[in-house]
Amino acid sequence: MLYVVATPIGNLGDISQRALEILENCDIVAAEDTRHTQKLLSHFNIKKPLISYYEHNKVAREPLLIEKLTNGENIALVSDAGTPGISDPGADLIKAATDAGIEVSMIPGPVAGIMALVLSGLPTDKFVFEGFIGTDNKKRQEFADMIVAETRTVIIYEAPHRLLKTLEFLEKNVCNRKIAVCRELTKTHEEVLRGTAAEHIIHFTENEPRGEFVLVIEGTDKNTSRTEAAVVTAQDVYDKFNEISKDSLNKGLRRKKNDIIKEVAASFNIPKNQAYDMYEEINLQTRGDL
Ligand code: SAM
Repeated sequence: MLYVVATPIGNLGDISQRALEILENCDIVAAEDTRHTQKLLSHFNIKKPLISYYEHNKVAREPLLIEKLTNGENIALVSDAGTPGISDPGADLIKAATDAGIEVSMIPGPVAGIMALVLSGLPTDKFVFEGFIGTDNKKRQEFADMIVAETRTVIIYEAPHRLLKTLEFLEKNVCNRKIAVCRELTKTHEEVLRGTAAEHIIHFTENEPRGEFVLVIEGTDKNTSRTEAAVVTAQDVYDKFNEISKDSLNKGLRRKKNDIIKEVAASFNIPKNQAYDMYEEINLQTRGDL
């Protein structure tokens, strides 16, 4: 049997009774980082053989683990923190096990994103988990296009050294929405800061981001989203563009056309490409190109 075992995300007191029982009684623990998990096991006086299973060896390791499971061994799968499979290796092994007809059970526990969602004070009835949005420009653009029109609460993970960059990115795309920045959850310095991206930028420019972060972003208002986007005219988009552009110049800022288009798209809750086409429609007429 494969047991997927959630472990604490910072506070060892959050380990469950069942997690300890499974870790004590299984044959092997498959761990993302064996040294890290060894510390956890030692803390609870558990002695167990460990086998590594992480992002870069998971493909090679899978056949061995499946063979052991097929032979009737009980394997507990853990990650460095929280729930395996959630922005952590695990999902592939679970799929391989279920494909092989092996029984899979789970010992539930902490997930940083869910804890942050609950603490955010934002709607929890419908939400989207995006994990790490990463550094790849194309993926970030896809994320931007999605979040502009997303009505559900959005949860993302972010590393401390990229926090300010991501807040700046959010300021451009979802400037007026509420964002909860949740830091060091369950740890001594746990903190939940609620505000707009611009407010968080000011805070984290003065206070260097340290620790682990989850960002929870308010969805766009249903009443002004996609359905109403249809009533936005090309002239509205063009006028808004000029208004933002003029406003920026008055503040001494020379902003890129693309950045302004993004802001226009966000303010009307329409996709960036649509905003661009609508802007160009009037722009070309005004210039006499059409
Ligand atoms: N499997 C984990 C879970 O269930 O949440 C997530 C693992 S992912 C590799 C690590 C990321 O989760 C961190 O970079 C951070 O964004 C978030 N995270 C994990 N622990 C956290 C904590 N105590 N406070 C805030 N964020 C945390």
